[in-house]
Amino acid sequence: MGNVPITVAKGDGIGPEIMDATLHILKEAGARIEIEEIEIGEKVYLAGNTAGIAPESWESIRRTKVFLKAPITTPQGGGYKSLNVTVRKALGLFANVRPCVSYHPFIKTKHPGMDVVIVRENEEDTYAGIEHRQTNMVEQCLKLITRPGCEKIIRYAFEYAVRNNRKKVTAFIKDNIMKQTDGLFHKLFDEIAKEYPSIQADHWIVDIGAAKLADTPENFDVVVMPNLYGDILSDVAAQIAGSVGLAGSANIGEHIAMFEAIHGSAPRRAGQNLANPSGLFLAAVMMLVHINQPDVAELCHNAWLKTIEDGIHTYDIYEEGVSKQKVGTKEFAQAVVERLGQKPEVLKPVQYKSAEELDQMPRKPLYSVPEPEKKELMGVDVFVHWWNGKFYGSAEEFGKKIEQLNGDGLKLQMISNRGTKVYPDGLPDTFCVDHWRCRFISTDGNPITHQQVINLLTRFQQAGFDFIKTENLYYFNGKPGFSLGQGQ
Ligand code: NAD
Repeated sequence: MGNVPITVAKGDGIGPEIMDATLHILKEAGARIEIEEIEIGEKVYLAGNTAGIAPESWESIRRTKVFLKAPITTPQGGGYKSLNVTVRKALGLFANVRPCVSYHPFIKTKHPGMDVVIVRENEEDTYAGIEHRQTNMVEQCLKLITRPGCEKIIRYAFEYAVRNNRKKVTAFIKDNIMKQTDGLFHKLFDEIAKEYPSIQADHWIVDIGAAKLADTPENFDVVVMPNLYGDILSDVAAQIAGSVGLAGSANIGEHIAMFEAIHGSAPRRAGQNLANPSGLFLAAVMMLVHINQPDVAELCHNAWLKTIEDGIHTYDIYEEGVSKQKVGTKEFAQAVVERLGQKPEVLKPVQYKSAEELDQMPRKPLYSVPEPEKKELMGVDVFVHWWNGKFYGSAEEFGKKIEQLNGDGLKLQMISNRGTKVYPDGLPDTFCVDHWRCRFISTDGNPITHQQVINLLTRFQQAGFDFIKTENLYYFNGKPGFSLGQGQ
């Protein structure tokens, strides 16, 4: 088998030192890789490239499809775009995978026995970045959850579990509140879980799930979740494992994958042979599994565990009484090299499936194209900016005016303010801002036309109302595709 080309960026700050240490171990372990180096980060930003990466570097990543990246420094001041976000979005790296492991009793942790992998959806949710200011008082952020987006991340989590000898996949969602968006994630999780009978599946509402994860992480294995919850909980998980400085992560796309440490470029430690290379190194181990070299990954990973177990520690994890020897970046890497072929005795040795075994495991398609459903327009929510100077008791006045706009097959069903129904029969105690949703539905229960919506908006305009947006109310195969107002 020939060498696998990979793109490597040494980054800024401690980046070059930890990358050299990592590549030294990989080379000595016999990794079958061929390195193409690119430059990213501070120098590229300061040379006037606001994305921090030059066009020819994109070309290398797109050709090799594997990117091992050291941390970079984003220069202070405005105008510089986050390189990570740019790479993730441009290359469609939909899954962020972060193993959070504790190494008790060799590295301080509150949770001995923790070995959790957080699989975070990386592209959608509130991170689509679609935000608007709508009124004097209100800003909005759209939470977009898509069917293929959910399928991709959930299936990836189950495939990861199967390929990495994991036993359970847990989903965290908030579908008691977000019945449609998180509801879709939950529904697809249940469907996909059935295709993996050898893997246990369960789910938690994210609040109590997060509390349990922080309290008893040893009860979790692989945890999959939408973007925002994953962003927060992957940091919580790494922190409570005691391994922020040691954690690596993978950003996986359909065609391209990027591997990196979760920490930054630690500029104050740069150039002193002090930094711990473990985060980047463990990311490189994930990369070796990804490029189907699990034999080398296992060799490297076990040698690293043995080094940690032998108390050979960099300054950041060194502890009097536990550690045996405080070493620099280079010496740490050399200690790992000297242990290639050894396994830890107290910590659990890792075992990866062989390349042949992985090759024989069929990969299911990550997502499907759903059958088109019968879609009928049954009404419209018209959002209005209106304010009479009162936070309390203004709904009745507003509702009476809006009711005048009934007609042409549409009638006002309810008005809500911040999601709570305030008209008809609202309570004067409900706090109301200047942002009102007026729900109009078909008077005879039959579908309406877009023209009727336009006519309704014309009536709003003629009555002097500032409508700020509309949301069409559709039925899909006879079922409502919209939620009820709180109290409706
Ligand atoms: P940081 O992670 O660089 O440092 C936080 C603390 O952890 C510091 O005390 C540092 O000395 C220590 N530390 C981090 N990595 C270490 C290692 N490998 N060995 C030993 N000690 C380590 O976070 P920061 O100080 O907030 O950010 C510094 C720079 O890194 C900023 O420019 C930031 O934009 C950038 N950053 C880059 C990435 C990335 O490229 N993925 C991620 C986070 C931050």
